[in-house]
Amino acid sequence: MTYDKKFLINGELVDGMGDAIPVLNPATGQEICSINEATPEQVDAAVRASQEAFTGFARKTPGERSGLLLEVANRLEADIDAFAALESLDTGKPLAAAQDEMGACVDLFRFMAGAVRNMSGIAAGEYMEGFTSMIRRDPVGIVASISPWNYPLMMAVWKLAPPLATGCTMVLKPSELTPLTTLKMVNMLADIYPKGVVNIISGRGQTTGDRLINHDGIEFISLTGSIRTASRVLEAASKTIKNTHLELGGKAPVIIYDDADVANVIENLKMFSFYNAGQDCTQPCRYYVADRIYDNFVADMASAVALIKTGQPDADDTEMGPIITADQFKRVSGVLDDVAANKHLEVVTGGKPMQGQGGSGFFIEPTLIANANQSDMVVQEEIFGPVVTATRFNDVDQAIAWANDTRYGLSASVWTENVGRAMQTVARLRYGITWVNTHLVGVSEMPHGGMKSSGYGKDMSIYALEDYTVPRHIMIAH
Ligand code: NAD
Repeated sequence: MTYDKKFLINGELVDGMGDAIPVLNPATGQEICSINEATPEQVDAAVRASQEAFTGFARKTPGERSGLLLEVANRLEADIDAFAALESLDTGKPLAAAQDEMGACVDLFRFMAGAVRNMSGIAAGEYMEGFTSMIRRDPVGIVASISPWNYPLMMAVWKLAPPLATGCTMVLKPSELTPLTTLKMVNMLADIYPKGVVNIISGRGQTTGDRLINHDGIEFISLTGSIRTASRVLEAASKTIKNTHLELGGKAPVIIYDDADVANVIENLKMFSFYNAGQDCTQPCRYYVADRIYDNFVADMASAVALIKTGQPDADDTEMGPIITADQFKRVSGVLDDVAANKHLEVVTGGKPMQGQGGSGFFIEPTLIANANQSDMVVQEEIFGPVVTATRFNDVDQAIAWANDTRYGLSASVWTENVGRAMQTVARLRYGITWVNTHLVGVSEMPHGGMKSSGYGKDMSIYALEDYTVPRHIMIAH
């Protein structure tokens, strides 16, 4: 099997000239291939190419840029099965899940292609007598985009489509752990875009990523990643006052009222909490359950979770794959050791690392922990694995206060059959996304992004197009 390993720099397909970085199959622990990371000189060349391409690309009409996005969507759609198979191999996620994600990638390119032709704003007018004012929305400039490993191509597409729609030029660096689908896009991007408009390089965060975000030529940094990396981005941005866009971690609360349809809640949470092996920034993971239904909910949820079928990503019946790397596997296993040592926490199902089929791979049992207290580390910190907690509540105010009481603000959900109660709760939650009687579902038309330490800036939707443009006031005296 051969893999696309080339980078795209100034319209040329080139090999990385830096250290070889192994890419592992998380379901077996075996190396898939290795990719040489970009050297500092290659990072500089990619930024220079974006700078040189900027003036020409920024002047293209929305209609022209829209046409290019549609070409990408069509090319991606034509090859969707190959992209899905590669994503599944690189991340360990079930093939069906990877296929859904590829469909969402195509849809986002198409949405951005339409939306950018229909931007809205304040009406032009004579707000001062003798002077006509109008707004232009122009591209923010030269963008550095850094994407994570949990949804590699989908996150790369969230980073690519809006700036390419608005006329920015850019350098994108995928996670060095899962670069394969992003590098597979290199050929089509090289065919479709003028040279220098979009540059793709791979490499580690501390080397390639650090060089990129600190480059004087970069004007806007967009990161989906950890809070730790976001701090590096803000340090880099502070030196030359770069604009930033940060999509960070989460610890989503799930408030389950006593009038909820419990069977429906369990069916949904079984799916969404363990989707992508829980490696999802919006994972529903802190269940606050009304006292009256708590015991039954925990028992039935445990039975449902115990049935989740883990296994190799290409097996038809696999519902959950492995954790991404040996390091993440050790980290999540360490959390489970701490839980086991903590007397008041009750592991109702799961709780242990497990062997994959064939005796290898980074698998963890789907785990439900009951009797969790608000101050417990498993309630406060993002685990990024198939581990969730349940906490009993008697008082609605207390449940909402607990739901808001972590440093994160990305997403939450409320489960009740009472619309008034749902709306009152939604208003009091401090989250960028709040679902009622569902969780984790996204659409290209609606924004994805957080509050508090989950970051700021929106992916998807018209709001992403606004983030990658600057409203400029033009005033004409007459
Ligand atoms: P990470 O921060 O370790 O890595 C993300 C990216 O940043 C990678 O490409 C990495 O190479 C790069 N990077 C790391 N250090 C860097 C540095 N010093 N300079 C420049 N680049 C650097 O995060 P991760 O482990 O890949 O992803 C998991 C995190 O991402 C979780 O916290 C998760 O919640 C978050 N996430 C958030 C969203 C969202 O939309 N809010 C979506 C997916 C993942």
